[in-house]
Amino acid sequence: SLVLGIESSCDETGVGLVRDGVLVGEALSSSMEEHVRFGGVVPEVAARAHLHALVPTARAALDSAGLKLSDVDYVAVTAGPGLATALQVGLAAGKAYALSLGVPLFGVHHLAGHIAADTLANGPLPPHSIGLVVSGGHTSLLKLGDLARDPIIHLGDTADDAAGEAFDKVARILDLGYPGGPAIQRAAEGGDPTAITFPRPTTGRYGFSFSGLKTAVARWHAKHSAGVPIADIAASFQEAVVDVLTAKAVLACTDHGIDTLVMAGGVAANSRLRAVAEERCAAAGITLRVPPPRLCTDNGAMIAAVGSLLVAAGGEVSPLTLSANPSAVLTSAYIT
Ligand code: ATP
Ligand code: MG
Ligand code: FE
Repeated sequence: SLVLGIESSCDETGVGLVRDGVLVGEALSSSMEEHVRFGGVVPEVAARAHLHALVPTARAALDSAGLKLSDVDYVAVTAGPGLATALQVGLAAGKAYALSLGVPLFGVHHLAGHIAADTLANGPLPPHSIGLVVSGGHTSLLKLGDLARDPIIHLGDTADDAAGEAFDKVARILDLGYPGGPAIQRAAEGGDPTAITFPRPTTGRYGFSFSGLKTAVARWHAKHSAGVPIADIAASFQEAVVDVLTAKAVLACTDHGIDTLVMAGGVAANSRLRAVAEERCAAAGITLRVPPPRLCTDNGAMIAAVGSLLVAAGGEVSPLTLSANPSAVLTSAYIT
């Protein structure tokens, strides 16, 4: 069956079409440019952009697949977490499509979508895996079973800033622009990751903390900026983040006797993170799974992917009274 997935939790309007776990079409529209001068996403600006983009993006996704709206069997939509006003636009559209087509609606957890994106590139997940979700607003180490059926267990989270947030804030400190992740990655190319030893802050066995690292970079930059290549600062910061993320993820796998690590979310697009994770997983006999970079950042395909898993599992359908949950905790893939 064909699932239409809608994503609108932040600044990307995404629509994806997945048939029985296979990505058959997608389209993406972003309001990122409109937020650049503010240095971060402005909720009302994002919501209005979703309103303008949603229907054209859905049409574009259908066109890319050579399909019609009437071919859609299920609608899946991000119900949280994210910006309330942005979520509401996607949710309203999802309900309208479901109601007018007479098909069931699934409320999807955005972060489960990030994880499910991996199945579009690498096939079904194994029965047990460790998940590392690293995005703009979240950083979590998870124990995963069947994504559509089993509860999702948090082994650790960040005590303060998310990994992506750290990239964005440090990019601002170094005046590299927004969004910060890709900017830092670019700036770090050719830099020496061992030039400066920034702290590797952690909390507990599986927890993270990035706000102290950000402050350390800011202090260091204020004190030593003259004559020190930005590339070295960016590379050293990136190395600190990558080092803690990969060390804890591998630790979680070995502690739990689980031999698959799936990395997901916008920061999983980072080339240095992917390279170090690959190295450390190989050394520990762990299979690393990570979606291609374009499926790491927000998109509609990943939401359709969760929908497709829920269809296959006979998962719980959401009522049309479903409301957005801007701060939904990731305990299951669906939100009802
Ligand atoms: P969340 O998923 O937590 O609700 P979000 O949807 O805003 O937040 P994503 O779209 O998953 O976040 O990811 C965006 C984040 O990923 C931003 O912080 C961005 O800087 C970061 N990011 C994107 N590409 C890269 C990269 N190549 N290297 C590092 N970080 C990156
Ligand atoms: Mg975005
Ligand atoms: Fe996201």
